[in-house]
Amino acid sequence: MPQVADRPDVQMLDNFIGGRWVKAQTDACFDVHNPAVGSVIGRTPLSTAADVDAAVEAAARAFPSWRDTAVNARAQVLYKFKALLEQHVDEIARLVTTEHGKTLDEARGSVRRAIECVEVACGAPSLLQGAALEDIASGIDCHVVRQPLGVVAAIAPFNFPAMVPMWFLPFGIASGNTFVLKPSEQVPWSQRRMTDLLQQSDLPPGVVNLVNGGSDVVNAICDHQGIRAVSFVGSTAVAKHVYQRATHAGKRVQALGGAKNFIVVMPDADLDRSIGVISESFYGCAGERCLAGSVLVPVGGVHAEARDRLVAAAKALKVGDGAQPGVTMGPVISAKHRDRVLSYIDRGVAEGASLLVDGRGTRVENRPDGYFVGPTVFDQVSPRMAIGREEIFGPVASICPVKSLDEALGLIESHPNANATSIFTSSGKAAREFAKQATASMVGVNIGVAAPMAYFPFGGAKDSFFGDLKAHGRDAWEFYTDKKVTISRWF
Ligand code: NAD
Repeated sequence: MPQVADRPDVQMLDNFIGGRWVKAQTDACFDVHNPAVGSVIGRTPLSTAADVDAAVEAAARAFPSWRDTAVNARAQVLYKFKALLEQHVDEIARLVTTEHGKTLDEARGSVRRAIECVEVACGAPSLLQGAALEDIASGIDCHVVRQPLGVVAAIAPFNFPAMVPMWFLPFGIASGNTFVLKPSEQVPWSQRRMTDLLQQSDLPPGVVNLVNGGSDVVNAICDHQGIRAVSFVGSTAVAKHVYQRATHAGKRVQALGGAKNFIVVMPDADLDRSIGVISESFYGCAGERCLAGSVLVPVGGVHAEARDRLVAAAKALKVGDGAQPGVTMGPVISAKHRDRVLSYIDRGVAEGASLLVDGRGTRVENRPDGYFVGPTVFDQVSPRMAIGREEIFGPVASICPVKSLDEALGLIESHPNANATSIFTSSGKAAREFAKQATASMVGVNIGVAAPMAYFPFGGAKDSFFGDLKAHGRDAWEFYTDKKVTISRWF
């Protein structure tokens, strides 16, 4: 078997700089895998600070004329991009499934979410407006306009290859900024295709640049004096690192980090209607969602029924290659990540939790080398156990029964992450109390995955978010612009 480096069929990806696909200034690379098959499907160049310099230079050159392009003309580029994305939804979804592993339905859903971000950014002519007031003193008027910052950058995680970059890019360029994007090195293909489609949308060269790579690119973005703002999505440790390093270099930063999400089930929950979405919260996208349920918290007497129903739902899932019909849960992203998730299951057993459904040893017919972990359920988990405390980012549900809603809220508050949480109940009072008190910033009431749409802010609190302004929604226009105030008197 030839080494990957010797196989001409395995393509090394390029960077997109100044409107052209160009080779990275390095031979170092990361092998991209199809996680369902276990085969190498490409190589991501581990670009260097010199590649970032070239991208920032191109973006800086493009900035003056892009800033001066009429806002509705900027929006027209995004309308074209949206139309092309619509035409290519299935193609992009297939790329997402191939590079990431999630099922085609999940991939299509994520591409639709990406398109929604582009749609919202098309509203820039209305949404970018400032404010004005005449006669703030006799004969003196004041008006406020939003101006773009300059070159801005975004750094993405592996779990939503098509969607997460669109939380930022359309808003950034609609505001008149020029852009440097670094996708996750593990999933570069869908962004490569989407960049082609952007290019076909009459986007001037240099307005969007894509630099493939890993931590060297991230650090070069944080340090680069030509970049004014950085958006990051990924694990808490790297989010904190990026926030500290990039703010130290004088940049505006929004850094979305990891999660440990608690799903509370009250005794009055309508389990017939809820168990499907609860199971989907834990096992959708193989648990690799920042909004995924991780700890099920049944309150009082509902414990046994909630547990038994979750066990039945987990056992009903069909694990396999997400590209194949009928499969309801795909693999995790890599062999390394599979081993990490499996090691958490081992630790759960060793720490004394009760393993009700064991995802270890899951095999898929015709996919012997895929990175599969079956749905897993633990009962009697305590927050002191690793599975009750740490982000696993895989299809592992930990059940942590409590006696009261207050105890459930205390559990949530005691965790350093505060991304998302949900309550299942028929009581408006309990739901209201929960939404008010829960420390997480994205709350679901009888909703398993409380994902804010593109016109609402997305992001957590505490160790799940570093910064002030969240992703998309109105915060995006704030993040990507500076407010200039002009006070005038005419003699
Ligand atoms: P990650 O932190 O490993 O990687 C994210 C990005 O940072 C990648 O582009 C990667 O190349 C880069 N990177 C990795 N290690 C680095 C380092 N040491 N120095 C500098 N850069 C580095 O995250 P991931 O595994 O790709 O994604 C999964 C994580 O992302 C989970 O923790 C998940 O909760 C989180 N996530 C959060 C949200 C949210 O909205 N809060 C959304 C999606 C994913």
